[in-house]
Amino acid sequence: MSKWGRITAREILDSRGNPTVEVEITADDGRSVRASVPSGASKGAHEALELRDGESNRFLGSGVTKACRAINEKIGPALKTIDPVELPKVDEQLIVMDGTANKARLGANTTLAVSLAAAKWGALLRGRPVYKHLADLYGNSRLKIPTPMLNFINGGRHANNGIQIQEFMVVPGAKESFREALREAVEIFQHLKKILHDKKDSTSVGDEGGFAPRELEGPLEAMELILAAADEAGYKNKTKLALDLAASEFYSERGYLLHHERAPLTFEEMTIELKEWCRRFPLVSLEDPLSQDDWAGWAHLTREFRSLTTAAGNEAPPLLVGDDIFVTNPERLERGIKSKTATAILIKPNQIGTVTETANVVAMARENGYATIASHRSGETEDPVLAHVAVGLGTDGIKTGSVSRSERLAKYNELLRIEEELGPGSYAGLEALTKIRAAVKL
Ligand code: PEP
Ligand code: MG
Repeated sequence: MSKWGRITAREILDSRGNPTVEVEITADDGRSVRASVPSGASKGAHEALELRDGESNRFLGSGVTKACRAINEKIGPALKTIDPVELPKVDEQLIVMDGTANKARLGANTTLAVSLAAAKWGALLRGRPVYKHLADLYGNSRLKIPTPMLNFINGGRHANNGIQIQEFMVVPGAKESFREALREAVEIFQHLKKILHDKKDSTSVGDEGGFAPRELEGPLEAMELILAAADEAGYKNKTKLALDLAASEFYSERGYLLHHERAPLTFEEMTIELKEWCRRFPLVSLEDPLSQDDWAGWAHLTREFRSLTTAAGNEAPPLLVGDDIFVTNPERLERGIKSKTATAILIKPNQIGTVTETANVVAMARENGYATIASHRSGETEDPVLAHVAVGLGTDGIKTGSVSRSERLAKYNELLRIEEELGPGSYAGLEALTKIRAAVKL
């Protein structure tokens, strides 16, 4: 007898009001699971594709009825002979049915929604939390809560405030627990709100729940304000910073337009400027400091950061995190490993399209000494599943936005629950990230 129950896909809405795919699996006895998928704004050019309805006026062409129909009519029936507990086999079937290198036929939104629902359904059949089910399936014996990176000032494609850099993140220094790390972050967030309010700047938030101030002089002021908030909250010299420059978004043939008022920069000039920032600010991680196809620039920057003396306590240079350049893709990561590009990889399951492919990329990164950071997308849903993926696959860090907007807090709140289950000592913390940074072979 099939162990699946009914598999139903429906169109729901994400945090930007855009349609997205939700899959529900329901048994006759009433047991059910649901999973939904996010969507990016600053998408990498090499990401797996989303299937959207296109041509029609419905939702300005962004409907996902074709994806839902594919699940209801083709994928669901095709899975019935596979044991849902065996997620790698489920994912293999999805990969075969799609048959393309970038999920161009079914769409990564379609395949990931099914894959995540199957992960939850398999966990339910085994009577285990999803993170434990994933840890068993993919051989992760290290059940730890990853270090959070919280995006407190939004710019770039996530806020129309003229700031080129997409994300200014806080990395809490608290060691004892994730709960304490999150408290540190929340207290800094509230102080930052007051600072912006006192400056008479906007305290409204961007797509990922961070503030989107309109009166900042530039990126340095953004970092200064966050550090001032950390000082006022009582975390002077404890809290660290991280950036996602999302540099593909301000790169053109003329170079990197890091500052509106200045000429575009070459990758050498970007490297010099970023090194200077790292000497001035306690930066522990720089994501996408250069553009998605600038392999020569990335190799140069990675080499140049080898011997950097930083303001982050001089333990090690910041992590250099590849998002758009790697797009959670094994071939692109392999090229990065061979060319000594970056020291960490951002892990976004919807860039590749199944949980198993995501797990394989995490394993490959770890084997090659790269740090791994699980990531939400700027368009999210209330599904907390990313917390389970991060703990289950054993990523070192997690970024899932700020401490406002419930679609972001759904993940942090789930990590609080998982930490309670795992018990004291289960928080990896900033030190773990620092150790990886120190061990990384540049
Ligand atoms: C990112 O670039 O890391 C990000 C989360 O943004 P988006 O989802 O818009 O790609
Ligand atoms: Mg990014």
